[in-house]
Amino acid sequence: MVSRDDIVAWVEALQKVYAENKEYLTDLDAKIGDADHGINLDRGYSAVVKKLAETNPPDVSSVLKTVAMTLISSVGGASGPLYGTLFLRASTACAGKTELAAADIVAIFQAGLDGVLQRGKAQLEDKTMVDALTPAINAMQQALNNGADLKEMLQQGVMAAESGMKGTIPLLAKKGRASYLGERSIGHQDPGATSSYLLLKTAAELWS
Ligand code: ADP
Ligand code: MG
Repeated sequence: MVSRDDIVAWVEALQKVYAENKEYLTDLDAKIGDADHGINLDRGYSAVVKKLAETNPPDVSSVLKTVAMTLISSVGGASGPLYGTLFLRASTACAGKTELAAADIVAIFQAGLDGVLQRGKAQLEDKTMVDALTPAINAMQQALNNGADLKEMLQQGVMAAESGMKGTIPLLAKKGRASYLGERSIGHQDPGATSSYLLLKTAAELWS
């Protein structure tokens, strides 16, 4: 089961992971965007950790909502509102729960992805974060159906996210700034798919 404190620990770990990967993500964005993805997430999650410490939200849903609102207000790029939407939908999907079971985890990520799809209008293979999130959530649902526990389920999700992330390399970008490059976007890994992979990898390392 994933508790309120487990969610907070995850978000705090994400702040460290994105700080450590700030240059890597920004370098990826330099190839097909405007070289700010790592900077955006580092700024966003630093603000999130500060806000959580100040407000100490009481339950899983309110923690996720605080993450959402803080990302939306502190990240200027496309990824801020999109990740904000993901966390906001996730928050709504677990309202009233004190702990999240494996099935709830799939449900909150699925709700989050649905929000990203609605807001960003990207389709699979448009070379975005959707290309890491979609296969990951499908793999987690499949693992759950096959009787996997939380840890195994998350590991399957991370493996699928990683191949989805690598799968963005040959794709032509159809959404976001990278789409302005047309054919020149081919051959580069999408920064947002990479940060989404890190999001799941960090959860898998912490939750069991
Ligand atoms: P910006 O592009 O505004 O500089 P970031 O650099 O922080 O914002 O984020 C770029 C990432 O956002 C891309 O790599 C891509 O994964 C994701 N992204 C951009 N537009 C969309 C969209 N419409 N739907 C889903 N993801 C998107
Ligand atoms: Mg950018």
